[in-house]
Amino acid sequence: MDLICLILLLTPFYSVPYAVTASDWSYWGENGPVRWPGLCVTGKRQSPINIATENTIKTDLGALKFKRYDFAFYGKVINNGHSVQVQFYGLPFQLEGANLPSTYILEQMHFHWPAEHTIDNNREALELHFVHYNERYNNVSVASQHEKGIAVVAILFKLSTEDNTDITPILNATESISGGVGKSAALKGVKIIPYLFLPKDHTTYYHYDGSLTTPGCQETVMWFILTEKLSVSEQQINIFKTTGTNNGTLSFNYRPVQALGERKVYHHLDGYSAAAIHSHNLCFVFFSFLLTTFLFSL
Ligand SMILES: [Zn+2]
Repeated sequence: MDLICLILLLTPFYSVPYAVTASDWSYWGENGPVRWPGLCVTGKRQSPINIATENTIKTDLGALKFKRYDFAFYGKVINNGHSVQVQFYGLPFQLEGANLPSTYILEQMHFHWPAEHTIDNNREALELHFVHYNERYNNVSVASQHEKGIAVVAILFKLSTEDNTDITPILNATESISGGVGKSAALKGVKIIPYLFLPKDHTTYYHYDGSLTTPGCQETVMWFILTEKLSVSEQQINIFKTTGTNNGTLSFNYRPVQALGERKVYHHLDGYSAAAIHSHNLCFVFFSFLLTTFLFSL
């Protein structure tokens, strides 16, 4: 979401005098996350968070529908100084379903190493963000200023001894843009199929309402974190770490987890019915009662 944030930070509203500016916010040092401006400090619905699985609310919110994600398109890879971002050319990829109030259009995808969201305090090696904006708005910048304007699908990658060959073309391009902020490289001769970056089970996810994880941290993001993980090798992570910034190489780019506060985290399970579980429990109570009565009557 780094590009969105950079655009928004250029607007006067975010140019508060004491805050770090668009060009100099960082993941570490004196311009690190504790010094990020505005909502990043004052917000109550910030991201990322730790997902305590025991406290999630199991429910059926509806499946996410990834439209055209199985199409292959040319794209380019950009070093924006805060992440490696992939921009697509061609027809729009769309996200619908779940509790989304509209159709959302895929703007870009980018990576965080290690992951931003933690599951039961466990941090994986990599997190991919598919950033979509509500089609009611003209672009991602406008959308991010409106409630439910943005929908991000997050994919976690766990460390493996094997390379993930699906991300190899992106890593090859990353090596050629690591030299400096603003560099970009076309994915030459390779088409990107977003579907390859989704785990097999893309119907089971965690959902909560949160924010962009970069300044200005607008609280307009519907988050969907898929529960099944992909894998990545340490060698591949090391290539991401060579990404050059204005402040040395980007050895990590995650924001620390934020307080959940009053919010709820939902665990979408396809076909899950709380009523069925409830009646199951009632049956259990009834049979326990019968058994107890029977035992006492002996
Ligand atoms: Zn992100």
